[in-house]
Order: sequence, then C-alpha cells, then structure tokens
Amino acid sequence: MSEQYSCIGCGVKIQTEDREAIGYAPQSALLKEDIICQRCFRLKHYNEVQDVNLTDDDFLKILNEIGQSDALIVKIVDIFDFNGSWLPGLHRFVGKNKILLVGNKVDLLPKSVKPNKLINWMKQEAKELGLKPEEVFLVSAAKGQFIQEVAAAIDEYREGKDVYVVGCTNVGKSTFINRILKEVTGEGDVITTSHFPGTTLDIIEIPLSDGKALVDTPGIINHHQMAHYVDKGDLKIITPKKEIKPKVYQLNEGQTLFFGGLARFDYITGGRRSFTCHFSNEINIHRTKLEKADELYKNHVGELLTPPRMDDKENFPELVKHEFTIKEGKMDIVFSGLGWITINDPGAKIAAYVPKGVHALIRKSLI
Ligand code: GDP
Repeated sequence: MSEQYSCIGCGVKIQTEDREAIGYAPQSALLKEDIICQRCFRLKHYNEVQDVNLTDDDFLKILNEIGQSDALIVKIVDIFDFNGSWLPGLHRFVGKNKILLVGNKVDLLPKSVKPNKLINWMKQEAKELGLKPEEVFLVSAAKGQFIQEVAAAIDEYREGKDVYVVGCTNVGKSTFINRILKEVTGEGDVITTSHFPGTTLDIIEIPLSDGKALVDTPGIINHHQMAHYVDKGDLKIITPKKEIKPKVYQLNEGQTLFFGGLARFDYITGGRRSFTCHFSNEINIHRTKLEKADELYKNHVGELLTPPRMDDKENFPELVKHEFTIKEGKMDIVFSGLGWITINDPGAKIAAYVPKGVHALIRKSLI
C-alpha cells in the first residue's frame, strides 16, 4: 500500500493484510471516501464489539492511560481459567479508580457450586494478587445471567464517570460488552456510534446517555494460556461450551492420567485416594501406570493421546514436569487454561505436566 490511510472512527492506521490485527479493513473499503476499520465498522453497523489483540507494550500504554483517567474499571476474568486470565499488574496502575471484578462463564461450572462461596473465593484470590475490587460478580455473558446486576452496579459505581472494560483475550469481554449495551440501550435500540471519537488508537469509546463513555480496551494476550499452543480446532475441544461434569478417579500410587496429549498428572505417593477432574467434557482422559507413562506418551501422542493431532505434534511444545506436595485439604492443581484436579486431603505427592510455557499451579479449591 503506497498511501497511508487512517480510520475515521478511531484513527488507527489502516492495514489490509491481517484480519485479526488492529486496523484491518478489506481492500474494498479503501475505495470509499470515508475509510473505516473493520472493528469500527462492526460497532457502527451491528453494535458489535470485535476483538483486537495487543502486545504487552501496547497494554502497558493502555494501563497508563487508565491510571491517568478518572474512571470506573471493570475487570473481566474467565472463571474457568481464573489464573490464566488474570491480568497481572493492573493494580499498580489503577490509582484511585474503583474496580469491579467480574468472573465470566459461570454457566460452565457444575450447578452444585454455590455462587456466594465462589465470590468469596474470588475476593480472597484478588486480595492475594494485590487487587481490591469494590465488588465481585459472577456472570454468564453468553447466557445473560446476572448481567442486570452488573449493569446496575456499573451505573452506581461509575458516579457519572467513564467506564473502562479490561480483560485478556478470550475471557468473553466482547460478549459481555454487547450484553451490557443491550441492557443499557434496550433490545434492538441502535446506539449512536457515529461520533465515537476514540481517544487513542486502540481504544473504542461507546457513548453513554450522560455524555460519558463505555471504553472497550483491546484484549491482552497472556502468553502462558494454553489457547496459544493448540490450533483452532483443538481449542474447540479444550474450551468447555457447557456445564463441566466433574470426573472422579480413584488412583493408587504410581498411576498416571493423561488429558489428551496436552497434560499429564502423576500420582506419586499418598495411598489410595480420589481425584476430581474438572475439564472440558470433550477431553479424553487416559489412565495408565506411571512407569509406562513416558513411553506411552512418546509412542502415542497425536493418536491415542490427542489433541495435539498427528500433523501438529511436531510443533507442540514438550511437556514440563512440576512437582507438588499437598499440605492442606481441598486444593486444586491447575493446568492453566485446560482445567484442574481437586484433591480433598493433605499428604499426596503429585506431578503435573504442562506444555513448556504454560503454567501449572496449586491453589485453594475453587469448588
Ligand atoms: P474476548 O476475546 O474477551 O472479547 O472474548 P469473546 O467475547 O470473543 O469470547 C471468547 C469465547 O468465550 C467465545 O467462544 C465465546 O462464545 C465464549 N464466551 C463468552 N462469554 C461466555 C459465557 O458467559 N459462557 C461461556 N460458556 N462461554 C462464553
């Protein structure tokens, strides 16, 4: 492209190569008088917020901007991947701004989970991670559960100020904003986006009725999320779409579970006991003897142990071992972005294997 165009909506530099990246517009858009990027186009014509992914540097710029503004911050996490979708560092930038913490995708958790218990758990985790939200909510943006409550809280806490919505990619931020917009504007009621100004290149402002704005910040890539290591087809398998059904395994010492070929769990010592697995219902769990596990993986990853698929296994990172000793009751061993195993009693020694780059961690049981 010899000439450089800018989007009349948000000011971003237009590019026509990468559909997923910021500033994308199809070639045909360049023929028009007013050139608009795809993201603004969708917002304008469909009232739909589209994902754009950013680098860490860009994210720091946005955090700085948030820190310098007087606004309410709505931080969204994916409750199925709480730790993986946590945006580290946000608390250092918020300044005096109030924060609402929203755990999305509550529809994925077993019905037996008590919302209040989970909300307390989230408060506790947030505190340990350095964030002090005014309130914590559990919602399902996809199903519209508890959206009204959050919309009401946003209205209350924003005290007439702008609202920044932040979250890493895939937490359901776009789905959430679209829901909130419907809640605020009413079904089918088109918001006026003709004058959305866009303060910086990568932030979209959606005007609210009082002249303030709901600000959609681009999703941040958390590099240790499992989602970045599997291809799009496999992502569908590992991402649960409906309520997860916990699977209980009675294991003896020296037994191993494989989760497809994506992760492995070794039960090393601690007597016979049960382990409750919380993973997408579509992930195949394979039980074997620990002493045979290395060889089984070597010979069968990509077929018996899949995903990854055969044609993808060469690019798939090696599994790295993380050892844990369970010292308290009711702990989760988390395979970031994939799921977790709940262990009820102390005294077990286990090993969790995840692809190099993905996090494995231990936490107080979420359920
Ligand atoms: P963003 O990248 O944060 O903007 O996330 P999206 O809104 O694009 O959603 C990412 C994925 O999560 C999509 O596959 C959505 O269908 C899914 N998703 C969003 N909200 C929910 C929810 O409340 N429940 C479930 N189960 N899935 C959701």
